[in-house]
Amino acid sequence: GCVRKICSGQVIVDVATAIKELVENALDAGATRVDVKLMGSGCDEIEVSDNGRGIGPGDFEGVARRYATSKLRDFGDLERGVSSFGFRGEALASLCELAGSVEVVTRDAGASAGTRLKYGRDGGIVAQSVAPRAVGTTVTARDLFKPLPVRRADLERNAKRHFAKAVRLLQAYALVARSARLRVTNVPRNTKRPSVVLQAQAGRAMTDAVAALFGARFAATLEPLEDAKFEGLASRATGDGVGRAEGDRQFFFVNGRPIDAPKLARAANDVWRHFEMKHKPAIFLDLRLAPGNVDVNCAPDKREVVIDNENGLVAALKDKLHALWAPTSR
Ligand code: ADP
Ligand code: MG
Repeated sequence: GCVRKICSGQVIVDVATAIKELVENALDAGATRVDVKLMGSGCDEIEVSDNGRGIGPGDFEGVARRYATSKLRDFGDLERGVSSFGFRGEALASLCELAGSVEVVTRDAGASAGTRLKYGRDGGIVAQSVAPRAVGTTVTARDLFKPLPVRRADLERNAKRHFAKAVRLLQAYALVARSARLRVTNVPRNTKRPSVVLQAQAGRAMTDAVAALFGARFAATLEPLEDAKFEGLASRATGDGVGRAEGDRQFFFVNGRPIDAPKLARAANDVWRHFEMKHKPAIFLDLRLAPGNVDVNCAPDKREVVIDNENGLVAALKDKLHALWAPTSR
């Protein structure tokens, strides 16, 4: 009914959020390898494969039903601050509603083979068969927004912009989810040949992930940022106006979760402008907050977060950046 219609489209609003939800599921499943394969920049197909724990047969029927989640045991989990990315049980259900087709191939440790599952628009299983598969899960979503012609048309028309947003989001996960190797390829519509979009090895420091994504030369222009409540990297001030336009390399995380942090970004840009006058600095900041001091549950995509005493955090960041960028410290 109406509730379904209102809810759908909140968690998945474009190619980027569709990919994000699937990558988060892979990470939640404890994967150490996550492969994202896009066709037509994600317009034609989004496939995310992982070597995580897989889905057990008992969950085949439930996973794509709305509000089905295996990650939240009770309401207390929400209050204590869940550490998994997902806990709403909406992503697969939304994807089934919003894509032309959704297929899952999965195998858990107890299974002797994989299972291929096709889900219908209502999240129910429409086909099931045995398929070869190592332990892990592959989810394939084709033709995102096919049931919604207007949104589909927008996606096709603005494929480039949607793809750029997806790449940025994937970069954020590569920077912070370093327990897994993330590899992203795309087969553009015009070339038909796969190209590597990004690749980041597991188990490295954030500087290594930055180097993998943006180059070692760029990584070498950053200085570490450390405080009781955050750690990260920021542009080194040059003071001679050499600062490049790196404002698009601003990434914020809270406890390893990519977030939008406009207040912190503005603070960093203000301090930079105070000293450098030019451009914007690169900044990669992972906030380390007690679960009780942050609420990630206020927006369905969990990017907008409410931080307890955010002003204190802004002040602490400004202090650090002043110390880093003040001419006397150079
Ligand atoms: P949520 O992540 O909020 O629980 P989703 O709709 O994203 O909701 O996923 C529903 C359920 O499907 C998850 O709770 C999990 O049990 C299962 N699942 C989805 N993707 C994977 C995966 N890649 N590996 C293992 N289990 C998965
Ligand atoms: Mg999820």
